[in-house]
Amino acid sequence: MDAGVPARRRREMAAAVSGAGRCRLSKVGAGRRPPPARVRVAVRLRPFVDGTAGENDTPCVRGLDSCSLEIANWRNHQETLKYQFDAFYGERSSQQDIYAGSVQPILRHLLEGQNASVLAYGPTGAGKTHTMLGSPEQPGVIPRALMDLLQLTREEGAEGRPWALSVTMSYLEIYQEKVLDLLEPSSGDLVIREDCRGNILIPGLTQKPITSFADFERHFLPASRNRTVGATRLNQRSSRSHAVLLVKVDQRERLAPFRQREGKLYLIDLAGSEDNRRTGNKGLRLKESGAINTSLFVLGKVVDALNQGLPRVPYRDSKLTRLLQDSLGGSAHSILIANIAPERRFYLDTVSALNFAARSKEVINRPFTNESLQLPVLAPVKLSQKELLGPSEAKRARGPEEEETRSPKLPVAPASASQKLSPLQKLSSMDPAMLERLLSLDRLLGSQGSQGTPLLSTPKRERMVLMKTVEEKDLEIERLKMKQKELEAKVLAQEAADPKEKENYSPTMLRPLARRIVTVAKPLKKAVVMPLQLIQEQAASPNAEIHILKKKSRKRKLESLDASQPEEKAEDGWELQISPELLAHGRQKILDLLNEGSARDLRSLQRIGQKKAQLIVGWRELHGPFSQVEDLERVEGISGKQMESFLKANILGLAAGQGCGPS
Ligand code: ADP
Ligand code: MG
Repeated sequence: MDAGVPARRRREMAAAVSGAGRCRLSKVGAGRRPPPARVRVAVRLRPFVDGTAGENDTPCVRGLDSCSLEIANWRNHQETLKYQFDAFYGERSSQQDIYAGSVQPILRHLLEGQNASVLAYGPTGAGKTHTMLGSPEQPGVIPRALMDLLQLTREEGAEGRPWALSVTMSYLEIYQEKVLDLLEPSSGDLVIREDCRGNILIPGLTQKPITSFADFERHFLPASRNRTVGATRLNQRSSRSHAVLLVKVDQRERLAPFRQREGKLYLIDLAGSEDNRRTGNKGLRLKESGAINTSLFVLGKVVDALNQGLPRVPYRDSKLTRLLQDSLGGSAHSILIANIAPERRFYLDTVSALNFAARSKEVINRPFTNESLQLPVLAPVKLSQKELLGPSEAKRARGPEEEETRSPKLPVAPASASQKLSPLQKLSSMDPAMLERLLSLDRLLGSQGSQGTPLLSTPKRERMVLMKTVEEKDLEIERLKMKQKELEAKVLAQEAADPKEKENYSPTMLRPLARRIVTVAKPLKKAVVMPLQLIQEQAASPNAEIHILKKKSRKRKLESLDASQPEEKAEDGWELQISPELLAHGRQKILDLLNEGSARDLRSLQRIGQKKAQLIVGWRELHGPFSQVEDLERVEGISGKQMESFLKANILGLAAGQGCGPS
């Protein structure tokens, strides 16, 4: 279909702006876009289980081949709805079939420093826990994956191999939007965070190192019982929460360039996807279902946003999706196993699970290798004496020039597609964070007097280019410093020439610098509210000598009330200038009003209320007219301060022609 091309393009763009895209710069292969890896979707149909089948119960779902199935169409019984997935596992399929067919192939990515996740989705009772956990007789994905992974890491991390490997496990559940540590249940609700490289992490989550399957069982079984105890108490709590087993594979290179990688495997038994409205849940059950359905609903929205290439993917709208941010449309190799049941009573939930699964298979992830460099002196991995000696001995054996160009005797890791950070990789194609680390490593080696591996065997030419850039930057900084000094000297000279200026500013003040900083962002203009009358007056007589706002000046001049002693106040930006004639005019108007105005007239003045107006009128009747506005101070109940503030408040308005004369 034509529409398929842009839709795919949009999806790829969405994958790029989501986790994978954001991390590109700090990941290996920064120059190249990681190849896409579609979320793989498998559907598993469980058999009728004891007691669930009625006498004449026939399945409502039927497998067609190893990838497709059909389900009766409830709108039209003559028809069936057909679905195609990456794999379909029928009721006869074994735990081994599912594991070997869909899960085992993604485990190897963990050793390449990439993430992987397996999610079991479907309504309660459809077989999610059976698929993920299974039983002692029929172990599921989790024990099988752990067994294989531990075996793999033992082999790959054996002495003499280039990488030292360690495995840790964490186990948590998301219950009612709370992240609970099942290995340390007392920790309470934990927060989910994202580091600067876009990796999702949970600070405070218990991580247990495991080296054998027995180790794993030792931690996992009691933690699962924690969950089971909860289930008995809260009646099926386990199907109300999302259980997340996180297995981390940490790799540290034993020899230079001492890379380190981390691969995360999420094994997730999701809560039941059944429709809350049909289950008749009430009270706590309803609240739980609400929370579960919220996160599963958001999961659906995330999938849709990724499919439609929307710029915002709502990962943060629920704990589950936040946690899965680097598993869906992000950096992981993901597999979704949709579990469905054959019984007719599951019909609607089965259709909705299949629809969700069909939408999910359109999501494209971009897995990348999560690799960085470890400083050899700080490397916390426990290495044997021999391993610790290895790099330094190798270093001593090599000449400095030889190391800059090649390191033929180094037992480097066998080349694989995932090892994209070759020591000879072009610096220009590396991301800045990596370069920064290289430089600091180089400096560190230099400070330790080491002659070996400058810039980790980077070819000399590229190292020179880098050094040149650094040199240029240093020169530029020097130039800027000189310029600043020049400016400072200029200002000091100006101040010496203008002693008035000097009075206001201490010579120790670095004004040029301060001014420079201020010019970066424009100084805030002070809002000055002009009296309306003044604006009108200005408009009416543009030549009048009223300057209310003048941007140029740094000082604000306020004429004192008797217009003879100008009062200066430091003020940024604006200047207020009023002509003495205008002020005299204002004073006269106030005086007229005081002498002739009624109490009502006086109340139209600012700061004069009913009481003060009556006091003024009373004083006038007793003592005759005011000879000057300052006489107001003689009125009993009006202080000198009040008189001044009264004048300040009214003089401008009246000077500019406020029409409140005696009525
Ligand atoms: P869910 O976790 O989705 O709620 P369960 O895994 O608890 O469902 O499965 C419900 C019941 O069905 C359990 O008794 C389980 O043993 C059984 N069951 C599920 N899948 C299978 C299967 N493929 N083969 C046999 N029994 C199964
Ligand atoms: Mg379950």
